[in-house]
Amino acid sequence: MPDFITSGPQETRELGRKIGALLKKNDVIALSGMLGSGKTTFVQGIAEGLGISAQITSPSFIIINEYSGRTPLYHVDLYRLQGENEIEDLDLADYFSRGGITAVEWSEKYKSHLPKNVYNIGLENLGDDKRKLCLPLELAAQLK
Ligand code: ADP
Ligand code: MG
Repeated sequence: MPDFITSGPQETRELGRKIGALLKKNDVIALSGMLGSGKTTFVQGIAEGLGISAQITSPSFIIINEYSGRTPLYHVDLYRLQGENEIEDLDLADYFSRGGITAVEWSEKYKSHLPKNVYNIGLENLGDDKRKLCLPLELAAQLK
């Protein structure tokens, strides 16, 4: 799992953009990492890579936002999801196979429900403007 260190949100967005450009329909990106580690920033880059011009924001009470681009993007944020029941009751399976790309923030809460083909990306705040992103080898290998 190769690590990428970014300095500032623009670099994280740029990495997201490159990854977004590589993604194919029904790909699922699972983003884990603490608040402020750059998950939403990275999804903004993915959206750019998919040719989505709309502004990507963190859904506050809504769990899923949909955007249309080269491929639709389903942006899921499970931050507010709490407890076994809420997690068990949430069924995202349809999204994972609807022909779009699903990006899930706080995917650690939903681990056992993620599809087998998921790309796991771990983010870490290294302090100041530095963030570490750990990308799956299959994706990292395709970056130029
Ligand atoms: P999360 O979705 O993980 O909570 P966000 O992407 O919403 O994180 O927020 C990350 C915050 O950290 C933003 O305020 C952003 O400006 C700041 N930041 C500073 N450096 C970076 C970096 N290298 N990558 C991403 N965000 C950064
Ligand atoms: Mg976020």
